[in-house]
Amino acid sequence: MTMLDIKIELTTKPKEKPAPDELGFGHYFTDHMFVLDYTEGIGWHDGRIVPYQPLSLDPSAMIFHYGQSVFEGLKAYVTVNNEALLFRADRNFKRLNNSNARLCIPEIDEQYALEALKQLVSIDREWIPSAPGTSLYIRPFIIATEPNLGVHPSKNYQFIIIMSPSGSYYKEGINPVKIMVEEQFVRAVKGGTGEAKTGGNYASALKGQQIADKEGYSQTLWLDGKENKYVEEVGSMNIFFKINGTVITPALNGSILPGITRDSMIQVLKSKQIPVEERRISIDEVVEAAHQGTLEEVFGTGTAAVISPVGELKYLDEKIIINNGEIGEVSQMLYDTLTGIQNGKIEDTFGWTIRL
Ligand SMILES: *Cc1c(COP(=O)(O)O)cnc(C)c1O
Repeated sequence: MTMLDIKIELTTKPKEKPAPDELGFGHYFTDHMFVLDYTEGIGWHDGRIVPYQPLSLDPSAMIFHYGQSVFEGLKAYVTVNNEALLFRADRNFKRLNNSNARLCIPEIDEQYALEALKQLVSIDREWIPSAPGTSLYIRPFIIATEPNLGVHPSKNYQFIIIMSPSGSYYKEGINPVKIMVEEQFVRAVKGGTGEAKTGGNYASALKGQQIADKEGYSQTLWLDGKENKYVEEVGSMNIFFKINGTVITPALNGSILPGITRDSMIQVLKSKQIPVEERRISIDEVVEAAHQGTLEEVFGTGTAAVISPVGELKYLDEKIIINNGEIGEVSQMLYDTLTGIQNGKIEDTFGWTIRL
């Protein structure tokens, strides 16, 4: 490991840590954050860990106007043996660079970012909650900071990592959600930014989410932006269908976000000899399977929830109930396997966990 040139300024006013059952998601932040600057002609420089604090930016900073930003989401866990670990964090920084390339943001050094994150998590180690299901959510992000209203890639950036202790996603057990196929709005189009983790994708998805909320559904099922026919994602998760014993997830096509949980699920399924296919799947095929009685399970995957089983799917005027509105066997197995690896109850034969 190379020596990191990271200045560390520890807080003189450590905050009180919230009670485990009050955590929720994204409300509380740890004592420190990591900051790295980019200046054209110099590159990335001045990596530092400093007390968590507000940013000071010029109102003309490009991030406020043209949305040039990328982010990541990952977690640190403490295992049953009280060891702190990160889950596939190397993949997050790799994906951050893919997003950077799409948004014309300069590449970061992935190894450096990972080591910086390890230092930050070590400093705020006490902030990783240990109650079952809890974790430390980590949000790395990059913003364009050049003060300039001209439309061009920014000349300056900040790469920042903040961390937030988060509560158990399933406090009252895993409850399947009701989702609704969005027919008017789309999340992403081929050639657009759907494959990049960038704030604009979330801004454009709010409308569909609002419509779903109004109708009593918790997530939007997004179809492709061209034919409005092929399934892409659910809310901000990847989606899987189990039809007649085979697990199917839409193939990455340029407008789908390549989830790390998605990739992990595919690998676990393969390791258990459960047939899994990455291919195009139309909403008509899903509805047809439901009519035939072969639609066995539907679930979303993402870092926050790991798995979110779908109990009801609404398309046009039809409401489809999946597996009696209960979590399916394969969904449960995948959830148990991934969370077991994350909390150290199951041996990590995949090499996914990274110790601090
Ligand atoms: C982050 C994200 C996911 C899930 O990715 P994970 O790496 O599994 O957390 C899926 N879809 C969208 C749109 C996302 O932004």
